[in-house]
Amino acid sequence: MKETVGTTGLILNEPLLWEKGKKGRIGFSLPRQDVPPASPDPSLMGEGPDFPDLSEVDVIRHYTRLSQWNFSVDSGMYPLGSCTMKYNPKTNENQANLRGFADAHPLLPPELSQGTLKMMSELEELLAEITGMDSVSLQPAAGAHGELTGMLVFYAYHKSKGSRRSKILIPDTAHGTNPASATLCGFKSVPVKSNDQGILSAETVAELMDEDTAGIMVTNPNTLGLFEENIKKIAEIVHGKDGLIYCDGANMNALMGIVNMGDIGVDVLHLNLHKTFSTPHGGGGPGAGPVCVKKHLEPFLPVPRVMEKNGKYILSEDFPQSVGKLHGFYGNFGVLIKAYSYILSMGADLKKVSQLAVLNANYIKEKLKGVLYLPYDRPCMHECVFSDKNQAAQKVTTLDMAKRLMDYGFHPPTIYFPLVVHGAIMVEPTETESKENLDLFIETFKTIAEEAKTNPDQLHEAPTSPKVRRLDETTAARHPCLMG
Ligand SMILES: *Cc1c(COP(=O)(O)O)cnc(C)c1O
Repeated sequence: MKETVGTTGLILNEPLLWEKGKKGRIGFSLPRQDVPPASPDPSLMGEGPDFPDLSEVDVIRHYTRLSQWNFSVDSGMYPLGSCTMKYNPKTNENQANLRGFADAHPLLPPELSQGTLKMMSELEELLAEITGMDSVSLQPAAGAHGELTGMLVFYAYHKSKGSRRSKILIPDTAHGTNPASATLCGFKSVPVKSNDQGILSAETVAELMDEDTAGIMVTNPNTLGLFEENIKKIAEIVHGKDGLIYCDGANMNALMGIVNMGDIGVDVLHLNLHKTFSTPHGGGGPGAGPVCVKKHLEPFLPVPRVMEKNGKYILSEDFPQSVGKLHGFYGNFGVLIKAYSYILSMGADLKKVSQLAVLNANYIKEKLKGVLYLPYDRPCMHECVFSDKNQAAQKVTTLDMAKRLMDYGFHPPTIYFPLVVHGAIMVEPTETESKENLDLFIETFKTIAEEAKTNPDQLHEAPTSPKVRRLDETTAARHPCLMG
C-alpha cells in the first residue's frame, strides 16, 4: 500500500460560529440609512435571537471548510451495501432544474400542466417496461413508503374478495423495513428461514402459507446479495392459496434488462429511484419509491392518477377501490424528473449498468474471499457479504476494520447487516467504479487484514486520521445536540 485516496494534508480546525463571532462585526456593506427609521412595531421589539456577529468571509470559510470534511460519492468510493451509492450524472440535475419543471406549481390546473403530466405518464410507462409490470404509482416518497403502499394494496385486494387476512410471510433475508411496513399496516409478520444457500426454499414457504396469510414480501436480490432462484415456484405456492407476492425491488440496480419481475410471478413491486435511478441515496434528501403492480391490482393504486384522455393528460380520482392518497400532490417531483432523464439518456445501456454492477461485486468477492470470510460462496448479484470470522483469533472485529478503512480514504461498507451473518461486512461497489478503484479497495482491505495479524492494537485505535474518532452513535441519535 503506497497510495491512499483522498487527502491528509492541511486540515484546518474549525470552531463554532458562536466562538468565531466578534461583537459589532458585520457581514454586509449596504449604504447607511439616510431616512428616518419607521416607528418600530412594538410586538417585534425585545431580545432577538442570540446570533453571533460575523463577516461574510468568516461565514463562507466556515461552511466551505465544513463541506470539505464531508465524504460523498462525488469525492470517493462509497461501497455501502444495500444503498447503491453510485455516481449520478450531473446532467440529470440540470434537467430537473429546467424552468418549466422547477417553476411548475402543484396547484396549477391540468390544462396548464400538460408537460409535467406527460413526463409523469411516460415515466410510469418506462418503469413498467423496465420491471415487466403493468401499472405504476409515482406517489410514495421512499422505499419503505412504497412497501406501506404495497401492503395497503394487499389489504384492499383481499377486502375486495370479502376476506381479511392477518399474516405476511417475511424471510430472514428481507430488508428490515419489510416487517416494519407490514406491522404498520396491521399485519402480523411471520419469519421464514432461508436455507443453507442463503435463499428461500419453496418447501419452507409451502409449510407456512395458509388461507390466513395475505402473501409474502421477498427482497430480491435479497440482503445477502443473492438472487431468489426459487421465486417462480414460491409464487405458484402463494398464488395457489390466493396470496400475493410483494417484491422489494430497491435493488433493481442488479436486474435491469435482465429479469422481468412480472414474468417471475411478482404482483406488487417497489423501486427506489434514489438508488438505481440517479438521485443520491442518503443524507435525508427527498427520494421516490414508485409502486408497480400487475393489471389485477391496478384499481387499488393511490389516487390521483395521471391518465391520458383524447390526447390530453388529466388527473383522475375516479378509482373507488383505491387505497387513497399517500403523499401531498404527486410525490417528490424533482426526483421523478431525474429518473426520467436518466432512463432516456441510458436507453438500452441500462442493461449494461446491471451487468457491470454484478461484475464489480463478483470481482471484489473473488479477490477478497479468504482475506475475509465469505459465508455464502456462490455467485452474487450487485453486492457481496463477508464477515470478520477470519480475524476473530486476533480479536479484530468488523467495526475495527471498517474504521481503519477511513484512515485509507474509503467510506466503510455497511456493517453488521444483514443480521443473518454474524459480524457482516456488506460491500456494494456499484457499476460506476473503475477497475483501478476496485483494485485499490481490495489492496486496502488486504493491508488491513495483514495489520490485523501483525498489529491488532492499531485497528482497535482506528480511525486516527479523520477529524473525529469513534463516536457514540447511540447517544448522538437519542440525544442530538443541535445547538452550539
Ligand atoms: C434501501 C432499501 C429499502 C428502504 O428504502 P428507503 O427509501 O430508505 O425507505 C428497502 N428495501 C431494500 C432492499 C433497500 O435496499
